[in-house]
Amino acid sequence: MNVIFIGAPGSGKGTQSQMLQKHLGIVGISTGDALRSEVANKSEIGILAKSYMDSGQLVPDNVVIDIIKNIIVKPNCNNGFILDGFPRNVNQALELEKMLGSLSKKINKVVFFEVSDDILIKRISGRFSCMNCGAVYNHYFKPLKKEGYCDECGKNEFEKRDDDNEQTVKKRLEVYYQSSFPLIEFYKKKNLLVKLDALKIAPLIFEHLLLSLNS
Ligand SMILES: [Zn+2]
Repeated sequence: MNVIFIGAPGSGKGTQSQMLQKHLGIVGISTGDALRSEVANKSEIGILAKSYMDSGQLVPDNVVIDIIKNIIVKPNCNNGFILDGFPRNVNQALELEKMLGSLSKKINKVVFFEVSDDILIKRISGRFSCMNCGAVYNHYFKPLKKEGYCDECGKNEFEKRDDDNEQTVKKRLEVYYQSSFPLIEFYKKKNLLVKLDALKIAPLIFEHLLLSLNS
């Protein structure tokens, strides 16, 4: 089972990816993480990727595709994989298809985690964390049990990421939609697309996920 996960930041697809990896014994591939680890390992491809990053350019698609290819040819991917963070546009989807074809592999399903903007904005902009123990909270969805004090460690200092304010989150979502809507249409035409209501609680979403992968 080879799957692509598409969803805005904050859509909860990370949680579902972990659950599905465990359930099916497949490998989760976060292209961002894979790229960072190649760079950290100073592999040939990592050094190449870093040269683009250092000069302020995006890492070209073919480099990212090669990194993905290196991962999925390994035996632990024989049962399948979940791609998260790639492709981001139709062009990348076509390149991915070509590469998979060269390995006699294909994508079986593309899962789109659908959440309303309003909820996404609250999920991201409401987020804050304890400076002492790192426990993560949300003003809207997971408030402190006792106002001002961490549930976990009882300390009273919290931090918020600068780029988590409502304006930046809105901007990020706009950029995200501009590139991902054509991608969603692309996979819909290929009859691979599954839409999940990512507003539900994680176990329920997972149930729907399993059902839709088997359909
Ligand atoms: Zn704490």
